[in-house]
Amino acid sequence: AQAQSTSDIQAALNAAHAKFKDVKDGANADYIPALAKVDSKIFGIALVTPDGKVYTAGDVKSEVSIQSISKVFTMARVIEDQGTDSILKRIGVDATGMRFNSIVSIEFAQKSLGGPEINPLVNPGAITATSMVQGGSRDAVWKRILDFHSDFAGRPLAVNKEVFDSEAATNQRNQAIGALMYAYGFIKDNPSQATDIYTEQCAISVNAKDLAVMAGTLANAGKNPVSGKQVMKSDNVPGVLAVMATAGLYDDSGKWLYRTGLPAKSGVGGGIIAVSPGKFGIAVISPPLDEAGNSVRAQLAIEAVSNALGGNPYAAK
Ligand code: GLU
Repeated sequence: AQAQSTSDIQAALNAAHAKFKDVKDGANADYIPALAKVDSKIFGIALVTPDGKVYTAGDVKSEVSIQSISKVFTMARVIEDQGTDSILKRIGVDATGMRFNSIVSIEFAQKSLGGPEINPLVNPGAITATSMVQGGSRDAVWKRILDFHSDFAGRPLAVNKEVFDSEAATNQRNQAIGALMYAYGFIKDNPSQATDIYTEQCAISVNAKDLAVMAGTLANAGKNPVSGKQVMKSDNVPGVLAVMATAGLYDDSGKWLYRTGLPAKSGVGGGIIAVSPGKFGIAVISPPLDEAGNSVRAQLAIEAVSNALGGNPYAAK
């Protein structure tokens, strides 16, 4: 595959921003009260190539909470520490075919004979992955999660306290999920701590450029193309991307993969990251979501930019 020229890439971002900036479909998530108040007009696109160049269009300064996109990096932390089998055996890597916060999926996982049938990108699997992060004390576990996210972004990230408090006050469903995962032996101890840390990781504050550098690190075999730091082992990256391809966009993961071929992950804060291995990491932030919970403009913009740049990894060139 030919590398795209600098001006081709910038033109693709500019074109997608111009084409979709006036799209008004979708609505902010509001089941976490603080998310309903976020400016719906934020629309930023950023793309990072393996040579460390950063391209942007629109508002790449405004920050939103990372939400479910954090699930990718906490899963990566566990794989990095405990190997690919750790996730496979304790959580599973299959699509549930159910909502991201489904309780029913836990019942099926428990009854399954063939091993766990969830994955780390839906809440039961994500809270379990958070519970698996080593460190001991809450502070030590939290530091390892936040530092790992920061290494991917190439700058020290911080938590949006208002979002954390808002979700912590309203996350009874996730607390129930954590408790059930403990009752069924997926989480080994302290489920309320796992859910609390999970909630905090979802409130990490990022802009579109941060997310693009994080995606770009996955596109560049685990080496942050901007900071130059090898954040995770290259051998561990394909498994992370595989789970993103399977379950990255909630119930529309199959449709998304069919259209773009790109491993991706969305969050209810309005961000989506997508990875074209060896070519680019891209991220878009735009808070209004569709019925499935995926940012409307982020999907449109990523698909358009990737098509313009030949990003689909399944398309031989
Ligand atoms: N913190 C959110 C939750 O657990 C994340 C949801 C998401 O982005 O999918 O409900």
